[in-house]
Amino acid sequence: MNLKELVRDNIWNLQPYSSARHEFEGVADIYLDANENPFDTGLNRYPDPLQKQLKSRISELKQVPAGQIFLGNGSDEAIDMLIRIFCRPGIDEVMILPPTYGMYKVSADICDVKVKSVSLNDDFQPDASQILQESSALTKILFLCSPNNPTGNLMERDEVIKVLEGFKGMVVVDEAYIDFSSEPSWTKRLSDYPNLIVLQTFSKAWGLAGIRLGMAFAQPEVIRLMNAVKPPYNINQLTQEKAWETLNDGVAEKDRQVATLLDEREKLRLDLEGHAGVLQVFPSEANFLLVKFEKHDEIFTALRSKGIVVRDRSGTHLCEQCLRITVGTAEENDQVIQTLKELT
Ligand SMILES: *Cc1c(COP(=O)(O)O)cnc(C)c1O
Repeated sequence: MNLKELVRDNIWNLQPYSSARHEFEGVADIYLDANENPFDTGLNRYPDPLQKQLKSRISELKQVPAGQIFLGNGSDEAIDMLIRIFCRPGIDEVMILPPTYGMYKVSADICDVKVKSVSLNDDFQPDASQILQESSALTKILFLCSPNNPTGNLMERDEVIKVLEGFKGMVVVDEAYIDFSSEPSWTKRLSDYPNLIVLQTFSKAWGLAGIRLGMAFAQPEVIRLMNAVKPPYNINQLTQEKAWETLNDGVAEKDRQVATLLDEREKLRLDLEGHAGVLQVFPSEANFLLVKFEKHDEIFTALRSKGIVVRDRSGTHLCEQCLRITVGTAEENDQVIQTLKELT
């Protein structure tokens, strides 16, 4: 793979903004270089533009070198940035595998980048030969979501490997739900596949959707490009501090919560399967269940009237009559089941 040939020329040649905190990285007594207010509020200084402390901790935890980590304002920022780095508006395209996460298409549409869709099969699995056949030299990025949203399943490893080996552009594996899954992360294979980019997030298992922090793992050259394109201080000080705190003191608690949610997922699955109006509960490796109902509209309305909101995915390709239900607390899940029971 020749990275230079895949990247937009203007990005490859970009002279990035050099902030005050870029130009002076040492420790000084008096900082008069960034036009900050000198009176200490705990937040009067600009944050570290490269989040070095945070990345060193993430590096330990994920066993990925810090130089192969990018942090974004949510993984949604990484998705947008990758499209802007690789895709020439009006010329290049990205490939998505519906039914999948909606942001890939929205980000591409915003950038005036075409979206080629290759449907997952009836088992929600990708067809590598069709993906390779339908891609061209203009297909710069393939977005692959595993475990997939909204279907909840993992993409079969052999098929993903065929794609990684045959696809001429970058392959983004979005692992927003990896902490709930039974398989190892694709980050383990970064050194085998130079075109692999893995996305993860603090928004799901880590319980930190509110701080907006996403991770991208890739070869160092790709990370350098992402750092050149990002807004200089894209991860604010409060977010860096909260994530640091959680990564140091909150790992065991996160693991406990994930274990609880996995138990609850199984319980909710069994309860749903025992209900007459449920046609199918799709297998899930995430913290939600995609459920096909006989009368999804009726169920959605009944839940809504009890103050319970779930995601209606019935309008989505291959998800007809389906609702996506996030696994909540035991009490919350019980209320869902209770509402269904009252309907029959
Ligand atoms: C929730 C989710 C994300 C998370 O995005 P953030 O911007 O990090 O909150 C990314 N990808 C998928 C598939 C998701 O479902």
